[in-house]
Amino acid sequence: MKRVANRHPASSGWPASAADSHLPPASQRHWEPTLETMDPEERLAIVDAKLRAQVRYAYDHSLFYQEKWDAAGVRPEDIRGVADLRRLPLLHKEELRAEQAAHPPFGRYLCVRREDVARIHGTSGTTGRPTAFAISRSDWQRIATSQARIMWSAGIRPHDTVFLGSFFGLYMGGWGALIGTERLGATAFPFGAGVSGHTQQAVQWLLEMHPTAFYGTPSYALRIAEVAHDSGIDPREFGLRILFFSGEPGAGIPSTKRLIEETFGGICIDTGSMAEMTPWMTNAECEHRQGMHMWEDIVYTELLDPETEEPVRPGEIGVPVYTHLERESQPMIRLWSGDLSRHTTEPCPCGRTYARLPEGLIGRADDMLIVRGENVYPSAIEEAIRSAGCHGEFRVIVTRKGSLDELTVRVECDPEDDDVQLRRTVATRLKTKIGVRAEVEVVKAGSLERTEFKSRRVEDRRDIARQMAAVRGDKHEGQPGASEKEAV
Ligand SMILES: [Zn+2]
Repeated sequence: MKRVANRHPASSGWPASAADSHLPPASQRHWEPTLETMDPEERLAIVDAKLRAQVRYAYDHSLFYQEKWDAAGVRPEDIRGVADLRRLPLLHKEELRAEQAAHPPFGRYLCVRREDVARIHGTSGTTGRPTAFAISRSDWQRIATSQARIMWSAGIRPHDTVFLGSFFGLYMGGWGALIGTERLGATAFPFGAGVSGHTQQAVQWLLEMHPTAFYGTPSYALRIAEVAHDSGIDPREFGLRILFFSGEPGAGIPSTKRLIEETFGGICIDTGSMAEMTPWMTNAECEHRQGMHMWEDIVYTELLDPETEEPVRPGEIGVPVYTHLERESQPMIRLWSGDLSRHTTEPCPCGRTYARLPEGLIGRADDMLIVRGENVYPSAIEEAIRSAGCHGEFRVIVTRKGSLDELTVRVECDPEDDDVQLRRTVATRLKTKIGVRAEVEVVKAGSLERTEFKSRRVEDRRDIARQMAAVRGDKHEGQPGASEKEAV
């Protein structure tokens, strides 16, 4: 019979004290100057020590990890640092789901006592069994400090007021931004989202309170801008200096980023990884917006070839694989994200030496469409549409006529647009960006459905869509429809 250790965190300085009250002076650029700007090789010693403690802790406190790693023939003491990380098997989302089904409600990777769980969150479970997240009190405090430290890099300071236009429910996103705001000492305005008539109210409150920072999804920010325009209000009147986003790739798509910055007159910051990985902001742009930094001393991120699962070199496409370094409640070790990205180690003007993802998360492997044999990412379609000057909603519809895939892109035009010209421009941009000819339909501004959360813009009407999802899902996601992943 296997045993788990007494469910209390190891001593010896790991994890860091949750009672950290450090707050730099507002004029200071970095929250932890030495740690953030040191030679990455030197920082690796810190990362390695945390990783050793995290792996040992997970093994000692979780039958799930004991079984998984024993089956792979690897022992915690084999992992001396990130160079050995590949000896541990990858962790997939459907394993977590199966584990929670077999050992409800949290699975045997919950490493603290049930009474030490301070918060319960989870996925919405719209397409499969929801996954539950349990977060201990001291983890929550450490998460707050991490989020605050990263929000600091975006330029948010204690004198700021942060408007949180996001759901406050199971979804981790809004809560993570809220505790970061509070820990940083800024004023939180947890406005929420998703209630009927809310967007009109959001416009009024933004004018009334003049918050200096905004958090939400890019599509919701653009929705607010539309509603403002309809009331004759220029969104620049809100006076937002910083808009930071998660939950959708938009803030990392150059044309969408530009659109948001021009619309609101503030900077647009892309952040976010996965809800399981909270503090999910360990992928985040700094105020220079040169791609998301990977804050490797909080969560260590590998980028692996999607096929061979070997590490990729800078500039090559890889799947981010995340490992917590200081999580006592539900540590994730080598969680396969299913997203795709490229990284660079080139210096950033901010002086931080964390590698970056200059194009953000290019797309989710799950969201990729195969159209006439070409891999097409919805984010590339969005880039093409926005760069053609389309500011409104859009839809992507894939059908099959005979043996040929048809790609239809529906965009909204502004009243002053020339329909014919717009159709031509969008079609040309799409062909250049994605390499596939698309039918472009121009519809009236405001005629496509709006959302206050994440937009669902892609509709694959081919019979083979489900089959392809099954093929792609075979390796990592189980059956079609089971690939729901909560991005934050
Ligand atoms: Zn930077």
